[in-house]
Amino acid sequence: MNKGLFKNFFKAKKLRLSHPRLLIYQELYNAKTPLSPQELYQSLLKKQKKIGLTSIYRSLDLFESLDMVFKIINGSSVKYKLCELEDHHHHIICKACGSVVELNFCDISDWSKKVTESTGYQVIDHQLNFYGFCKTCKKEA
Ligand SMILES: [Zn+2]
Ligand SMILES: [Zn+2]
Ligand SMILES: [Zn+2]
Repeated sequence: MNKGLFKNFFKAKKLRLSHPRLLIYQELYNAKTPLSPQELYQSLLKKQKKIGLTSIYRSLDLFESLDMVFKIINGSSVKYKLCELEDHHHHIICKACGSVVELNFCDISDWSKKVTESTGYQVIDHQLNFYGFCKTCKKEA
């Protein structure tokens, strides 16, 4: 999501686009790899932007609830990546290097049907991650 889209997205959701939120978004946008809240804090600090960790955590929680970022949990490490795809999508995460690719397809309608049949629940949403080894790490293994 580029900066223009990001601003419009916030406006459409009637959310306030505070300066810290914009700065955190920009850091994630420019980052080549997913970042932890501490890494975000440090890299903002290097640019003379002091944003408290609490504020970083809150902004990331908000971004996550809006499906703007993907939260990668690996043991005790938590990192965030800005999503490029805006519509519903999934991710595959490399177990070795942690790189993430977004998948622009989702076809689990049969599965949803099975869930409804076996539980009686009406399915309205789902989360699903794939894990494996990326092309580079696969060669090294
Ligand atoms: Zn994504
Ligand atoms: Zn890898
Ligand atoms: Zn899906």
